[in-house]
Amino acid sequence: MHCPFCDEQDTKVIDSRLVADGMSVRRRRECNACKERFTTFESAELVMPRVIKSNGAREPFNEDKLRAGLLRSLEKRPVSLEAMEQTINRIKSKLRATGEREVSSKLIGSLVMDQLKQLDKVAYIRFASVYRSFEDIREFGEEIARLDD
Ligand SMILES: [Zn+2]
Repeated sequence: MHCPFCDEQDTKVIDSRLVADGMSVRRRRECNACKERFTTFESAELVMPRVIKSNGAREPFNEDKLRAGLLRSLEKRPVSLEAMEQTINRIKSKLRATGEREVSSKLIGSLVMDQLKQLDKVAYIRFASVYRSFEDIREFGEEIARLDD
């Protein structure tokens, strides 16, 4: 890639290491013209299935939206950002593993709930209470009762 400082094409890699549990490569580069150094990250671009919303509309999978939902549920909970990022990665792997080109938002919601149930029970209940519709409220009450056991 071109040097971001002087636009020179000739840059060299001076250091390369695996980051994010081996899911990305971080490279330090040096420009052969201006000698400025910069960092690049490389990770596989994996295609996520599209999301079918409850009204039938399709939209691209939005990781930021998923992260925002998790952050809201995990607010003030003793869960590290790293554990949350791992949860996001697990949800994404499961979605890719379906092999489907389109998945329902309902499926994503239940994957998130499965993961939160293992991660933090309070976050799970918070997420479920937002995500679940009123029709499910009785079932949800039973779910909370089960958690108390
Ligand atoms: Zn340069």
